[in-house]
Amino acid sequence: MVKILVCDRIDEDGIKTLRSIGETEVAIGLPKDELLKKIQNVDAVVVRSATKVTADLINAAQKLKVIARAGVGVDNIDVPAATRKGILVINAPDSSSIAVAEHVIGLMLALTRKIAISNMSLKSGKWEKGKFLGVELSGKLLGIIGLGRIGTQVALRAKALGLRVAAFDPYVTEKAAEELGIKLVDLETLLKESDIITIHVPLTPETKYLIGEKQLSLMKSNAFLINTSRGGVVNEKALCIALKGKKIAGAALDVFEAEPPIENPLLELENVVVTPHIGGSTEEAQRSAAMAVASEIINVLQGKPVRNVVNMPIIDPETLRKLEPFLPLAEKLGRFATQLSEGRITEVHITYCGELVNIEQLNLLTSTLLKGLLDRILTQPINVINAPFVAKSRGIKVIESKTEVVDHFPNEVILKVKAEKTEIEVKGTLLGKEPRVISIDEYKIDLPLDGRIVLVSHLDRPGMIGKIASVFGEHSINIATMQVGRKEPGGIQLMVLKIDHPMSEPALKALKHVDGIKDVDVAEMEV
Ligand code: NAD
Repeated sequence: MVKILVCDRIDEDGIKTLRSIGETEVAIGLPKDELLKKIQNVDAVVVRSATKVTADLINAAQKLKVIARAGVGVDNIDVPAATRKGILVINAPDSSSIAVAEHVIGLMLALTRKIAISNMSLKSGKWEKGKFLGVELSGKLLGIIGLGRIGTQVALRAKALGLRVAAFDPYVTEKAAEELGIKLVDLETLLKESDIITIHVPLTPETKYLIGEKQLSLMKSNAFLINTSRGGVVNEKALCIALKGKKIAGAALDVFEAEPPIENPLLELENVVVTPHIGGSTEEAQRSAAMAVASEIINVLQGKPVRNVVNMPIIDPETLRKLEPFLPLAEKLGRFATQLSEGRITEVHITYCGELVNIEQLNLLTSTLLKGLLDRILTQPINVINAPFVAKSRGIKVIESKTEVVDHFPNEVILKVKAEKTEIEVKGTLLGKEPRVISIDEYKIDLPLDGRIVLVSHLDRPGMIGKIASVFGEHSINIATMQVGRKEPGGIQLMVLKIDHPMSEPALKALKHVDGIKDVDVAEMEV
């Protein structure tokens, strides 16, 4: 009989489901020494956020196969320690989407009908009927930034309230949006035209301060902003200035740059509605998380496929020894190509060449490459187990092939990525232990895959190199290395630069304006 230990309070239905397959003990708030003893003999452990599943607990376990987090974040679990011991870590990333979407609708009404502020006024003994004139939602335009799980649920609910819906999400196709009856627009149009804007993107280097002074200045003066995604996607300082200056009508925030928000001036403003990061906190979301992990635990213990795995699979040691050196190459090629692609990725073609064809389980390299390709753009933790599943569920066609034919190196990986607006081919190899790109769209180069990389395609004519270098100089960006490749004289050249400082927006803009430059791409290779 399998043994399951539930360490934090989870919904009763989840526990009932677990009891159907094994001896399930619910032991909440156990002291560490008792937990250390109990974990030795269990097959599965379930936690929420209170119990810290540390390396010493994991190392004490003798038959543990799975650690389940009944929720999204796994910060309280030492995932690398679990991975080292071949223990799966699973979570329930879908469970709170409806809860957050409903919270957004609540915040929307609280803002437009001044519910929070009028509640405070009446409770303080005032009857300010004339002060709280609201606006109706019906017919207004809702702009959704990030049309993923939560964004989609918000859209469905908003339409039922008579709102028109537009969305900005560079990784979603027109067709997928059309099926939801949503118009995809660029960020600038969304900011300029929406009456209410709601944000549902993950916090990544790309989305940090996605909404700052410039974006707020594009919004209508009677528009509202709602953020239930992550603090840091909105620049709070800029938001505070915009709200104080009545540049926008109001904002609702469930998430903050620092949580809890202490001495945050936004909390003082009348036109701001705040909640303490409770978007996902509903009984149903907790039940759904408990049920999801319970059924996933059953799958793990019965050897069936599992959907939401956070860490790596177990693989036979000999194959892993052969594959391991190529894992960073695969992940970095994916991370590089995704940053050179524009629009939603639709097709990925991977060709393994030369010595690689003789290695088993190349699908681990494919999964690792997909992980690199996807994890900059999604909230859910992407790993080698769930990457192919996530790619499929986002409509990305993945084609793998092998050939013994190589160009120059004993092993080569060719990655072709088709996206809605671009099509790119990068070829990489492992030089010693170092992943390198050896060609981009048939331009021969030699590029270690690290640091900050800028690709500039420009007309092959005298003076271009100087013009480009001077833009970097004028913006105090130091060029570490520079190489130029071309296919034929007088055509298009590809310049590849490594830079020591982050590429700033003004520098990027200036570069794009240089006469003769066709395109500029920037790739940050560090996670
Ligand atoms: P998701 O991964 O399903 O969707 C994210 C979407 O953002 C994707 O469609 C992706 O294509 C898009 N995206 C990525 N980068 C973008 C960019 N630069 N511009 C526009 N779109 C971009 O995530 P989700 O489950 O819908 O979660 C959305 C957010 O909500 C996350 O930040 C998550 O942490 C947060 N969240 C908050 C709570 C809460 O309690 N307030 C609860 C759960 C989730």
